[in-house]
Amino acid sequence: MGEEAVTVGQLAAWVRRFADLIAEQKAYLTELDAAIGDGDHGINMDRGMTAVAGKLDAATPGTVDELFKLVGLTLVSTVGGASGPLYGTFFLRLGSACGGSAAVPIGDLVNGLHAGAGGLVERGHAELGDKTMLDSLQPAVVALETAVSAGDRLPGALSKAWAAAVRGRDETVPMVARKGRASYLAERSAGHQDPGATSTALLFEAAAFVFAAGN
Ligand code: ADP
Ligand code: MG
Repeated sequence: MGEEAVTVGQLAAWVRRFADLIAEQKAYLTELDAAIGDGDHGINMDRGMTAVAGKLDAATPGTVDELFKLVGLTLVSTVGGASGPLYGTFFLRLGSACGGSAAVPIGDLVNGLHAGAGGLVERGHAELGDKTMLDSLQPAVVALETAVSAGDRLPGALSKAWAAAVRGRDETVPMVARKGRASYLAERSAGHQDPGATSTALLFEAAAFVFAAGN
């Protein structure tokens, strides 16, 4: 532990895989948002991640903070809605915490993910249980940290993080929304899966895939 590092190239592959999953799940994310929001989450996220992928095609960032800054600023400027600034802040904080090298030690990446989640909370004031993306993000980051501290290598640690993100996503179903548009529905938001928690689970699915042994 502490020795393993991930490169900016691997992290860019993670971002691209996330863009692919968002594109694949665009209609589903939008359908989830149609039930308790305004039906644009898949459209918003796909617009943003398509723009990110286009920028990565045009120029390869040389450092981890450049990569995540590119992602964060692009999401802030293209996604709109609640999720643009929230995901944007997450990636911007993640980038600052990871620093300006071409690789980042896993411990720093975990700290960066915590910082990103902290930025999202500062921006959106969500608490766990409010039926938001935080309900998937927070357990995923904690599971990753626990696994890395226990000495797991990244592939195993990230598959645990993904599993925790999925559990957190599923746990949003019975919740009553207290943040975002879904909160306007109050009790009627219960029984529906949160769109943002669903896209966040895709973020960890992408990581688990890209860092899986053999990929
Ligand atoms: P909008 O609600 O503006 O249409 P999106 O549909 O793109 O934006 O995103 C909706 C998602 O944003 C929700 O499913 C929820 O997970 C997340 N969200 C909304 N408000 C907050 C908040 N204050 N904190 C954290 N996440 C939030
Ligand atoms: Mg929406």
